[in-house]
Amino acid sequence: MIIGIDDTDSKKGMCTTYLCAFLMDILRDYGDVSTPRLVRLNPCIPYKTRGNGAIAFEISTDKCDKVKEAVKSCVYEFSELDEVDTNPGVVFIDDETTLSNADIHILKGYYEKAVREVLNKAAADTVISGLGLDSFGLKNKRGIIGALAAAAFVLLLGRYQHYDFTYELIAYRHKARWGTPRIIDENSVWTADAATYPLTWDTVDVANRRIVFAPHSPCPVLFGIRGDRVDAIYRAYELIHAEPVERVRLFITNQGTDFHLITPDRNVELSDYHSYIVEGVVESQPVTMVGGHVVFRMMLKDGATTIDCIAYEPTKGFRDIVRQLRVGDEVMVFGSFKQGTLNLEKIGLISLNREELRNPRCERCGRSMESAGRRGGYRCKRCGTHRATKEVVTIERTIEKGLYEVPPVARRHIAKPLIRMRHERVYRGLTIHPCR
Ligand code: ATP
Repeated sequence: MIIGIDDTDSKKGMCTTYLCAFLMDILRDYGDVSTPRLVRLNPCIPYKTRGNGAIAFEISTDKCDKVKEAVKSCVYEFSELDEVDTNPGVVFIDDETTLSNADIHILKGYYEKAVREVLNKAAADTVISGLGLDSFGLKNKRGIIGALAAAAFVLLLGRYQHYDFTYELIAYRHKARWGTPRIIDENSVWTADAATYPLTWDTVDVANRRIVFAPHSPCPVLFGIRGDRVDAIYRAYELIHAEPVERVRLFITNQGTDFHLITPDRNVELSDYHSYIVEGVVESQPVTMVGGHVVFRMMLKDGATTIDCIAYEPTKGFRDIVRQLRVGDEVMVFGSFKQGTLNLEKIGLISLNREELRNPRCERCGRSMESAGRRGGYRCKRCGTHRATKEVVTIERTIEKGLYEVPPVARRHIAKPLIRMRHERVYRGLTIHPCR
């Protein structure tokens, strides 16, 4: 049986991954439990608590009813039901062997939409009733949307080889410590990172001298170590000195995969709450706004649509890349779209405009000519020489072509760190510049 769960937590506490880890320890009495999945869904969903995560796991059991009862009572007991935006949902796939290829195809479409688009509960209900699945929910039951996607992910990962995945090892705090400052020896975290990067990533942010693997909320998570290799993750874990943990759980995840990004056809209109990779040309010089956010306008390849691209202040040094753009640069931008603005997660510099129009230089004395008024061209005040138009000069650019990303401190859970592309070294012809 596959069990998917979502929307049990709030900003004030709990974490659906903790509920999962807790449940799995109880459910061992009923059968073998698989490595759980932590699935990140559409990062633009307005009513998410933090990273729009949902969980799922599989249990081999002949005591399905007992398992379901245990899950329901745990969800009831642990969920932050007093919070308006907590609407738990659970989906059970009792026996995956009864699903046809067509059913799996429906689940694939649903999962991909849950990561990339905005769904409503009716969409989940249609799939659940069409496939004869069982579900359970509390309050408005919105969590069923994410719970179904997480359950689908369990089925899909083994079947679709092109589905990328990573791991996260999450350590949980003893209940008595929830809401108190986390005790983590920072030096040991830097040591663990140095010993295991790039097989683990996003533990620290080197450029900003910050540890980024521990939340600051009152939730039960002490920290999470992300990476591509389980052995490296456990090695990092052993090197970290911190307060005693209540339990530790390894998750298989779609974090760090960029699965949320859509590459639209050239003439497709961009929609709010979706994330894209689009190409175009810089149309306005980047400006730094109040608050430190950097924004520029670009013309998409359709030659008709302009959008604003923004690098928010928390993206820190990434803004320095964006500030160096010039009108005419050809770029590829990655990020989520809302109200005409794309929130940058990565930027590819495809070609740099090295041409600048300048007042011409006098052929005799070499000085810069001055404008001789509208339609008057340019004249050297000293020698009286005349030129009709400006001249094109080639300028030096301080930035290199390639693909750049926001630093770990500003990275979304689902965004793919460029270091994960180190073996290919290039993405769509662009050399990667990982930010560490
Ligand atoms: P955390 O990351 O701390 O677990 P969260 O950010 O996952 O919290 P939730 O509390 O789970 O936030 O709230 C997200 C809600 O959005 C859930 O009810 C989930 O079912 C729903 N949801 C997830 N993906 C989509 C989607 N693509 N369209 C519409 N609703 C979605």
